[in-house]
Amino acid sequence: MARFIFITGGVVSSLGKGLMAASLAALLQSRGYRVRIRKFDPYLNVDPGTMSPYQHGEVYVTDDGAETDLDLGHYERFTGVSAKQSDNITSGRIYQNIIQKERRGDYLGATVQVIPHVTDAIKEFALADTDDLDFVLCEIGGTVGDIESLPFMEAIRQLRNDLEPEQTLSIHVTLVPYIAAAGELKTKPTQHSVRELTSLGIQPDLLLCRCEHPLPETERAKIAAFCNVRKQAVIQALDAESIYAVPLQYHGEGLDNEVLRAFGIDDAKEPELSRWDDIVDRYNNPEGEVTIGVVGKYVGLQDAYKSLHEALVHGGMANRVKVNIKWLDAEVFENEEELAEDLEPLHAILVPGGFGERGSEGKISSVKFAREHNVPFFGICLGMQMACVEGARNVAGIASASTTEFGDTKEPIVGMITEWMTKEGLEKRGADGDLGGTMRLGAYEARLAANSHVAAVYDDVKISERHRHRYEVNSNYIEKLEQGGLLFSGMSPDGALPEIVERPDHPWFIGVQFHPELKSRPFDPHPLFASFIKAALDQSRLV
Ligand code: GLN
Repeated sequence: MARFIFITGGVVSSLGKGLMAASLAALLQSRGYRVRIRKFDPYLNVDPGTMSPYQHGEVYVTDDGAETDLDLGHYERFTGVSAKQSDNITSGRIYQNIIQKERRGDYLGATVQVIPHVTDAIKEFALADTDDLDFVLCEIGGTVGDIESLPFMEAIRQLRNDLEPEQTLSIHVTLVPYIAAAGELKTKPTQHSVRELTSLGIQPDLLLCRCEHPLPETERAKIAAFCNVRKQAVIQALDAESIYAVPLQYHGEGLDNEVLRAFGIDDAKEPELSRWDDIVDRYNNPEGEVTIGVVGKYVGLQDAYKSLHEALVHGGMANRVKVNIKWLDAEVFENEEELAEDLEPLHAILVPGGFGERGSEGKISSVKFAREHNVPFFGICLGMQMACVEGARNVAGIASASTTEFGDTKEPIVGMITEWMTKEGLEKRGADGDLGGTMRLGAYEARLAANSHVAAVYDDVKISERHRHRYEVNSNYIEKLEQGGLLFSGMSPDGALPEIVERPDHPWFIGVQFHPELKSRPFDPHPLFASFIKAALDQSRLV
């Protein structure tokens, strides 16, 4: 039967609970255990799909088409286990299900309440589909004390009684701040946070203390005494130089040993950490460096492009080079002089996914610059659509080419699709339907042209990649665009939807309708990113 690890956070948000969960899961996995990580988000949105990337960071999409929290990206990257719809739940979804059931009359006249109905739904979610697992790590979003997270805390409290004593573990992640004026680390916020948690009926078994300076033995003993845990269960979590160093660091602090001890497992195998040693070595000892420009709209908040950032780092690891990323605001590039100044020093240009018209002319100008100067270019989703609009306007002679996403246009090179094929059959959308959950989402197959650049990059002609978009390149324009030097080298299996476009007369010019960054992992860098960074490296030797 699976064992459950509940991870809560205290003192402040942004302590890196997601990374902590991912790292612990990776350590357990390195000992041969089967793991899965689940995220519980207390907010009322049904999923993060409709939230601004500025507020919530990127929306991570799973193979089965769920729009989820970006922590699921960490989980996948660290464990290689593909996340599913059933790995992320929000209060919004729970209430939506409960209210639908109530309207159907499923509660047979009962008063529907937070306890037991909401808490039961949370428990059901945690326990579902876990028979073939050794460990399920459940990360609760937010910070202890939040009003919204109370039902989740209550559900954990109940589960700790419902399950066997050695079947659950509670880990609380806190902050031990350094007060420069006193020259001391302060344990009081941790004490308060644990008091808050115990007042909800949850005694933590293990404390993970984020700190900027090493935690002295005296402070560790103090935390243990005041928070009612063993001293060995107070684990210091110093800031790491890279997120990929975190599992090895936590192992060094005894985290996985202490977790297994708490579960009463004393026959644990030794962890096999060589793949972590290898990626940390690749990251720490690069043999060169490249500078990539990312021309986007949400460049003020890097979490908005989390997976993209990581995929570029993985591409660097694959080539043993350091990747410097210049985040460039597309809006600034509406001015061509400014654009040349910023783009000239770059070894490659990437236009990522995005929504809406703002900054689009800057993106189109960046594509033009990359095309004309033979600089490696990678367009992802909206980036691919902009590459097609650029080719249409500046090469194929369709001066007013645009996308219907930006308003009515006489030349809809990119348009909204209202029906497409899925594995289950025809999927239909209305142009005026809901915004939430109605995009083309999740994994779809594509067929690649045998002699194309992308077929060489993938070393395959059949691929599957994750999608999240409402608009598609209009296949009525394929012929004209191909006359303008673009090649549609990847299409949906039925041949209806353009998936990949490339320029055979350019050293590296590829646009993809999907999001390859979502499937890149440090141990298995995505071939497009590995190849793109290789092209940037070649370019760096030219300039
Ligand atoms: N806005 C575009 C669309 O909906 C692209 C989306 C994206 O880049 N993820 O089709």
